[in-house]
Amino acid sequence: MTFQQPVGDTLPRYPVIIGDSLEEQGSGETAAHIYPATGAVTREIRFASPADVDRAVAAAQAAYPAWRALPGDKRRDLMFKLASLFEAQAQEMAPILVSENGSLSLAAPYISYDAAQKFRYYGGWADKIEGRTVATWGGPAHDYVSYEPYGVVGVIVPWNGPLFAATMVLAPALAAGNCIVIKAPDLAPYSVMRLVELIRQAGFPPGVVNLVTGGADVGAAMVAHPGIGKIEFIGSGATAQKILANAAQTLKPVGLELGGKSAVLVFGDADLQSAAKRGLTGAVSANGQGCVNGTRLLVERTIYEPYLQMLTAMAGHIKAGDPFAGDTMLGPVISEASLNRISGLVDRGVAAGGRLVTGGGRMGGDFSDGYYLPITVLADVDPASEISRTEVFGPVLVVTPFDSEEEAVALANDSDFGLGAYVHTTNLARAHRVAGQMQAGQVQVNGSGEAMTPCVPFGGMKHSGHGRLGGIEGMREFQQVKNVWVNLA
Ligand code: NAD
Repeated sequence: MTFQQPVGDTLPRYPVIIGDSLEEQGSGETAAHIYPATGAVTREIRFASPADVDRAVAAAQAAYPAWRALPGDKRRDLMFKLASLFEAQAQEMAPILVSENGSLSLAAPYISYDAAQKFRYYGGWADKIEGRTVATWGGPAHDYVSYEPYGVVGVIVPWNGPLFAATMVLAPALAAGNCIVIKAPDLAPYSVMRLVELIRQAGFPPGVVNLVTGGADVGAAMVAHPGIGKIEFIGSGATAQKILANAAQTLKPVGLELGGKSAVLVFGDADLQSAAKRGLTGAVSANGQGCVNGTRLLVERTIYEPYLQMLTAMAGHIKAGDPFAGDTMLGPVISEASLNRISGLVDRGVAAGGRLVTGGGRMGGDFSDGYYLPITVLADVDPASEISRTEVFGPVLVVTPFDSEEEAVALANDSDFGLGAYVHTTNLARAHRVAGQMQAGQVQVNGSGEAMTPCVPFGGMKHSGHGRLGGIEGMREFQQVKNVWVNLA
């Protein structure tokens, strides 16, 4: 098998876009971007520096008064135009998405379509921003509540789905009237770079969205910057802790969309085939690197072995391969370091009593230049063990049996995380009963990803973060509440 290599010339060129200036390099460090399917260097990129962050914030601040004053119907029209551009260029976006992190060509059109959906959905809110009046007491008065933008919002996104994450934030934040400084992730910078180019192409005024590409130093400079009114962070809990400590210096609000170890509860009355297929998506979706992937499978003992057999048989049909090939269903993980971390977790999971049903170590042969792991299923996993409690972020599922609904609920909630939960049952009353008890921001009944539409709120409980993106809650995330009391006496 010969792997297609990413073509540098087709990849976006500007890691820094500030105001109306497209810059081929920042003033920070230089690093080689690696394509994880082959280990090839796509390009050396000179990243932004904290000084570039200062310029980006200044540009956003300069653009803000006019952007905030722009009537909602004009903001709406710009967002609709951007949505159309996303649809029109889905073909050109696909190799960018594949090249930056090894995501699959198969899934790429969906990511552009999803971006278009988000800008249309929130474009539709941009011309419907309303407040409310309050029948207050204590004297004749007219009292009203208005929802106002923060000013400049700083956006920090991870490498695993940078365009998905960036559009999840930018669509509501722009609709609400904020200006943006966004950091493209150093490990997967290209789709966010193209997003900002498309925003310019759609005719958004210069400075409304500014781009800095880079790593922790650039993100930290954004968090510390007094000119940024709010940070929206999508990434790991460990980084979130550093960001919160940093934000304390400027008392800045921080929205957090973090990791997960989402439980999949399979009851004895479930449609077994559907539950196995959907259970497997936890290892496959985003090459096992999705924040809300269901990776902790809890299966009723009455169907435990048949379920495992079906899951394993289905895993055998998942074709690992070249991410550019249209029939590839599993690609690489992001880096050698990530691969080694995941392998270590699996090894320790086996040592702690996990039964390796399928998968295991690094894939060799044609795959040995890239960072490929097979779908790996560990059964009989102790819920207290490291691999059951840690976000693995690779194509790895852990499976644990349960004997009663109460035990299933207790096991599902026995986690530091609370992002998603998946319930498989044909019993309607049980579905609602269990959903009501899940400590998770999003529960899907007999589903495995269909809920990720822009019209519903998405976000975590516990260590998975707080705040919501999607739906009207997503707008509120980027609006400050003001109350005005007018004396009528
Ligand atoms: P990460 O926390 O290592 O990095 C995220 C971003 O933060 C990157 O852009 C990085 O450059 C930046 N950063 C690193 N240190 C920083 C600092 N000190 N100050 C400011 N910025 C800093 O996460 P990752 O490895 O890129 O992404 C994987 C994680 O993201 C997983 O835990 C995953 O579950 C989570 N995630 C969550 C969601 C969600 O919506 N809940 C979506 C996607 C990914």
